[in-house]
Amino acid sequence: MEVKKPKLKLAVYWAAACGGCCVSVLDVHEKLFDVISAADLVFWPIALDTKYHDVEEMPDEHIDITLFNGAVRNSENEKMAKLLRRKSKLLIAYGSCAHMGGIPGLANLSTKYELFKRVYLEAESVVNPEKIIPLTDSEVPEGTLDLPEFYNDVRSLSQVTEVDYSIPGCPPQTERLLEVFTAIVSGATLPPKGLVIGAGIKTQCEECTRIKTENKRIKKLKRPWEIKDDGVTCFLEQGVLCMGPATRTGCGHRCIKGNAPCRGCYGPPPGIVDPGAKMMSSIASIIDEKEPKEIVKILDDLVDTAGYFYRFSLPVSLLRRKIV
Ligand code: SF4
Repeated sequence: MEVKKPKLKLAVYWAAACGGCCVSVLDVHEKLFDVISAADLVFWPIALDTKYHDVEEMPDEHIDITLFNGAVRNSENEKMAKLLRRKSKLLIAYGSCAHMGGIPGLANLSTKYELFKRVYLEAESVVNPEKIIPLTDSEVPEGTLDLPEFYNDVRSLSQVTEVDYSIPGCPPQTERLLEVFTAIVSGATLPPKGLVIGAGIKTQCEECTRIKTENKRIKKLKRPWEIKDDGVTCFLEQGVLCMGPATRTGCGHRCIKGNAPCRGCYGPPPGIVDPGAKMMSSIASIIDEKEPKEIVKILDDLVDTAGYFYRFSLPVSLLRRKIV
């Protein structure tokens, strides 16, 4: 008699994120049938009518794999991160926001007070004569309403709980997710815990097919719309910032192949501690100027330096946040 392998129990959770990671899971298309023949989805708020109390009632380590996407922005995200950690055998930080803080992490350039002031009091589309801002508790005739506490800092998943693996990307390439899932289902030996999986260890530049000229220097930094891209020359050599020198492979060079510079969503490869520091060194090596004053002028063309260098990684960078 054939003994059927028990199905894995799979959970997907969405914290502070845009939703693209959940869509990337759905992007498996017809392969979804392979996934559901090997795994039961036990919790996925975007797709299933499952509630937090359903997770609370599960025994510890009941879930085999949780894909946690999104950064930790508020007390609800943190509570779910810790709960899903307890209930899961493998907790995977899925996507740039869970892995490094992602785009929500750029909010670490402002304080909670500054964000609330802009969003609830000053934004051009806001009508708020009573100057109401979100409170954790509000008394209404029906009782007390509560909201999660909005933290001053955005954190990555591993900054609040232990993470087994991270699958990077904004969003991760669906093919990489399927490779990881297939490896787990087939019982393959997994790499040591704490590593990035579903990605390469080289930099984008090492595998990029755009032409690089030795000793090429530039006199001006440009925005992508300021150049007539020839489709073949390295973006940096055309004066356009490309995060390739500080970003690991694994995405299939989708942006570069689409004639857009790399934005760094896969994060730095092993050996690069801080993507911003690496980019500063890369830019310094191609600037065609020795006069400090002229160098400063060239660097003045760098619009939104933090947004370029740390678009996906500010909370886990050496800087972590703006000091106020
Ligand atoms: Fe390719 Fe960008 Fe690296 Fe240039 S900087 S080689 S365009 S990844």
